[in-house]
Amino acid sequence: MFVTEEFRGRPLVDPEKCVGCGSCILVCPAGARRLIQEEDRYILRYFIGQCIFCWRCVEICPEKAISGTTEFFFATDNWEDLFIDIKHKTVKCSYCGKTFVPQKLIINTKNKLPSEFDFDRLDICPDCKKNIGALKISISRGIAYEDRK
Ligand code: SF4
Ligand code: SF4
Repeated sequence: MFVTEEFRGRPLVDPEKCVGCGSCILVCPAGARRLIQEEDRYILRYFIGQCIFCWRCVEICPEKAISGTTEFFFATDNWEDLFIDIKHKTVKCSYCGKTFVPQKLIINTKNKLPSEFDFDRLDICPDCKKNIGALKISISRGIAYEDRK
């Protein structure tokens, strides 16, 4: 079927380039992308049936992992054909052990940060960072952490 060059069809993600940052999920106006968190992995799920082919995800992806295509015809009698999953291994927080971030995102961030950065803090989850920060402030003020509450 003929379409013009500038026609916007289905966006495609290159799983090699995707680091699992989640930006494409945040900007998707149709809710066609979502994050499924499992015990030891994250799944980035794209549902073609909900996509309006706006390409906001193409524009926002910091890794240039999403490209626009002119594909738009997806008639199928198999529901499963309409989903594309990208699976990411995850990192556990070095303090509480909770799964909190894709491994590739940590590696990618490390590669981009200056060498003087405190890399040990990268594998601490936001909740623990907050608690550690509060503990340090309490100690510096000479009050017990429990007494703050
Ligand atoms: S914005 Fe790009 S790198 Fe981030 S999760 Fe989406 S496809 Fe992956
Ligand atoms: S093209 Fe638009 S609707 Fe489709 S997944 Fe990307 S942001 Fe969502």
